[in-house]
Amino acid sequence: MKNISRRRFDCLVIGAGGGGLRAALQLAHGEAHVAVVSKVFPTRSHTVAAQGGINAALGNVLPDNWHWHMYDTVKGGDYLGDQDAIEYMCRAASQLVIELEHYGVPFTRLENGRIYQRAFGGQSQNFGGEQAMRTCPAADRTGHAMLHTLYQQNLKARTHFFDEFFVIDLLMDKDGYALGALVLEIETGEPLIIEAKTTLIATGGAARLYRTTTNALINTGDGMAMALRAGVPLQDMEFVQFHPTGIAGIGILISEGVRGEGGYLINSAGERFMERYAPHAKDLASRDVVSRAIYQEVHEGRGCGPKKDYVLLKLDHLGADLIKKRLPGIRELAMRFAHADPIEKPVPVSPTAHYTMGGIPTNRFAQVVAPVQTGPEEAIPGLYAVGECACVSVHGANRLGGNSLLDIIVFGRAAGNHMLEYIKENRHQRPLAQENIEHALERLTRWDKKGGSESVDQVNQDLRLVMEEHCGVFRTQEVLDAGIKKVTELQRRLEQATLRDHSKIFNTARIEAFETENLMDIALATVYSAAARQESRGAHSRLDYPERDDIRWLKHTLYSRAGNKLDYKPVRMKPMTVESFPPKKRVY
Ligand SMILES: Cc1cc2nc3c(=O)[nH]c(=O)nc-3n(C[C@H](O)[C@H](O)[C@H](O)COP(=O)(O)OP(=O)(O)OC[C@H]3O[C@@H](n4cnc5c(N)ncnc54)[C@H](O)[C@@H]3O)c2cc1C
Repeated sequence: MKNISRRRFDCLVIGAGGGGLRAALQLAHGEAHVAVVSKVFPTRSHTVAAQGGINAALGNVLPDNWHWHMYDTVKGGDYLGDQDAIEYMCRAASQLVIELEHYGVPFTRLENGRIYQRAFGGQSQNFGGEQAMRTCPAADRTGHAMLHTLYQQNLKARTHFFDEFFVIDLLMDKDGYALGALVLEIETGEPLIIEAKTTLIATGGAARLYRTTTNALINTGDGMAMALRAGVPLQDMEFVQFHPTGIAGIGILISEGVRGEGGYLINSAGERFMERYAPHAKDLASRDVVSRAIYQEVHEGRGCGPKKDYVLLKLDHLGADLIKKRLPGIRELAMRFAHADPIEKPVPVSPTAHYTMGGIPTNRFAQVVAPVQTGPEEAIPGLYAVGECACVSVHGANRLGGNSLLDIIVFGRAAGNHMLEYIKENRHQRPLAQENIEHALERLTRWDKKGGSESVDQVNQDLRLVMEEHCGVFRTQEVLDAGIKKVTELQRRLEQATLRDHSKIFNTARIEAFETENLMDIALATVYSAAARQESRGAHSRLDYPERDDIRWLKHTLYSRAGNKLDYKPVRMKPMTVESFPPKKRVY
């Protein structure tokens, strides 16, 4: 291969979603020379799709404080979250939401000019009491507003962007230091080496693993797979969130904000069935609880439609004015994709894959911590991760709505701060030897040589179906073990696969192949971790082990790619300054 161009920066940020952009802004404000690489134009990153809002205990509508928010987050995650990180996030929330407002996010307002706050699932006042209202929206396009604002702030701060560049792999040296990444310019197909003293992975989630999903084509878990290939294990990958209200048969999200504004679910008998499953919180119980309830209604024959396979989300009683003002995007989606104007009739919904709770293990400074070369729970020098690709872990076994936009802002800033400290102490770029880029180069070129008969696209589609059938909302040992076999077979088929037209390989086809390889690694991590965890906790629901088992399973899973090995580490139960919330029965 001819000489590859090189660029050098203090900091490389992989991903231009909310997590990457918030970190980059902190770095640029700290006078670091920072590059952001994104496979799509930054404002097309998936943060743009976030609808309902971001959580902060501002107390603008009802009384609130961060300690109640912390309690709800610990309980929502079914006690698997690390309580130091949760305290850090909930304490920082109000300040950082106000900061976003000052950057220019056009939050929806109350009459008195303060930020409006809506109710979301799993929120309470006074440690499990009445419903709280903690989610700050910009109508139902909060992610759009946040992403555009952060992008503009980065342009102003002179962050350097590599738009539509695909990261192939991390570059690590033999001492375990992160030295940057090998990337591919999508338009030209030219490779580029970006060297950096610190590298942040902010590549988003992997819910494209499933056939029915709220996630866009780009959410293929690339950063998680890169970390796995670099020898970093992935944490808690069995915990995949299925959002209860995707448009039936399509999966496109209808925000929890709809239920927060007073919408509710009904079955074929017109019954508001959540009253039976969660008598107190009803439709605003946590997402895992509501998704399971919908499946149970359908399973017991109370579903709607010709196949009785969905339920209805009713909001016509909210009135046209409120729907047009606070939920305009939802109305548009429902009319376009479900042919139902929610002002007039209910919207058909069913659970859809939505969010990856697991990911690259980090501490609350966003440093990647892993037992790689450097020993147990050591930070990998120069390597950071933030956002949906990371597992810090604030969401534990089930994320609360509104907490992900908060996670990316809080830990994006934390990552930026720590990276600035790191480059102050490590002023010189470590040398990058040819041997450090060999594995990434091998990956870059191997699709050009392939000649097998399988189609990458077909393998990709089959994988998403297998994951839906074998690692969905309800799981058993038998079904999961069969899933492991099927995914392993698909991995073998992928090795035999070829790009569609071998005489003329388009970069988009190569990118799809890289993404499918990444998805395959994430699928194995997910299904192996799910088969190992013999209990039900949060989003991981085992029909053969229906109870949570704190004696055996109050611990994080760590999946390593080499030999599909599983390890475990304790949950950090000790918060930073307050008393911990010990596990108790989780009822809503
Ligand atoms: C429909 C929907 C609605 C949601 N609503 C809410 C909500 O109301 N409130 C809330 O808190 N959360 C919500 N969420 C969740 C939340 O939006 C996401 O978890 C969060 O925005 C993820 O941000 P991120 O920065 O981690 O990643 P993303 O925004 O997904 O960005 C990932 C970035 O990585 C880049 N990238 C990935 N792979 C590569 C590669 N190989 N090379 C180069 N670049 C790469 C992408 O181009 C992109 O720039 C919602 C999610 C969905 C799907």
